[in-house]
Amino acid sequence: MSVLERITSQDAIALEDKYGAHNYHPLPVVLSRGEGVYVWDVEGKRYYDFLSAYSAVNQGHCHPKIVAAMIAQAQTLGLTSRAFYNDMLGRYEKYATETFGFDRLLPMNTGAEAVETALKLCRKWAYEKKGISENEAQIIVCNNNFHGRTTTIISFSNDEVARENFGPFTKGFIKVEYDNLEALESALKKNGNIAGFLVEPIQGEAGVHVPSEGYLAGAKALCEKYNVLFIADEVQTGIARTGRLLATCGNCRCADRHCSGSPEVKADILILGKALSGGAYPVSAVLANDGVMGVIRPGNHGSTFGGNPTAAAIAIAALEVVKEEGLAQNAHELGEIFREELNAFIPSCKLVNAVRGKGLLNAILINDSPESSTAWDICMALKENGLLAKPTHGNIIRFAPPLVMDKEQLLDCIAIIVKTLRQFEE
Ligand SMILES: *Cc1c(COP(=O)(O)O)cnc(C)c1O
Repeated sequence: MSVLERITSQDAIALEDKYGAHNYHPLPVVLSRGEGVYVWDVEGKRYYDFLSAYSAVNQGHCHPKIVAAMIAQAQTLGLTSRAFYNDMLGRYEKYATETFGFDRLLPMNTGAEAVETALKLCRKWAYEKKGISENEAQIIVCNNNFHGRTTTIISFSNDEVARENFGPFTKGFIKVEYDNLEALESALKKNGNIAGFLVEPIQGEAGVHVPSEGYLAGAKALCEKYNVLFIADEVQTGIARTGRLLATCGNCRCADRHCSGSPEVKADILILGKALSGGAYPVSAVLANDGVMGVIRPGNHGSTFGGNPTAAAIAIAALEVVKEEGLAQNAHELGEIFREELNAFIPSCKLVNAVRGKGLLNAILINDSPESSTAWDICMALKENGLLAKPTHGNIIRFAPPLVMDKEQLLDCIAIIVKTLRQFEE
């Protein structure tokens, strides 16, 4: 059999099962094509994608503008390493820093690498600018955080499955309760060696926890008071997902109407990934102003692929698509409809306790114990009915379609979700 011959779903699953490491537990669907809000399995069945590769595909599958930029650059110059300049990186850095309102950008590839970069940057700033003594810097993080999978990042996770037998862990992190300003201030007060506060503006993996109104602004004010860097991990919430270009929309200059009127907070260090490339390629970035980014000098940090011309061309196109197609505005409007419609349905449905979220990052909470398989079973039934979603921690189902969805498609999806939940009650 040729490796590229068409195969059945069953065969594809058997191959991964036999030859791959078992580090995921996928829904049994084998996808072979995607376009916009849709994906197709190898048998040709069409589904609405309600995960969007964990919000990497905000611009929709195989967006023609992003794919064209990728092909053109790949045919021209793919990778130079940072040993030399290339003619795309500076243009991308200018465009992205202007878009998000920061002085400088440090390019990386994956989200976890960008988080690692932000942590290193924060520590270096603490020693060289804040004056913390060597090896004493602490970074505050939140309970139930998700920031990626490296050894340092899992060092401050509370996900025991993600940590089990991977020690020894990295020191220098203090955990506080999420969405609790008193807990944050008490940690800041107790210790003079705090360098930064790392936070997800909405906790995605933990089950789409939206913090109380004013939490992020309050946390930012506390960081200012104690001279601590506010580090926003917007790998999942960024790039229009939550109805604004950034969930911490301090002074980004995006063109979305409702955005400019509601400034929330501006991070000292902003971490982006996932949809920064529209899912076409691994592209991540750390943004900061001169006072922070200035501590990084040649040799301090790097990546062979980070800032390569292909990544730069793709990221420019991916950000242009977000602006040109008004995806933040669309996510805002469709998100309102989604929660409104589900809130109208939930009182008549014993299986669902609540819907929550912002923009098109939403979740329903299933009325069953976190150990039960109900959320998984519902996702299996949703799949049969043509919609792909995945349970996240506990009995929670995250709903995050591509932001290029239109209202008619969204209503169609809501009908599928309602129909599926009704089937379950019978
Ligand atoms: C996905 C994610 C990451 C990690 O990104 P990878 O590209 O998988 O390394 C980090 N932070 C948040 C908030 C994420 O959602």
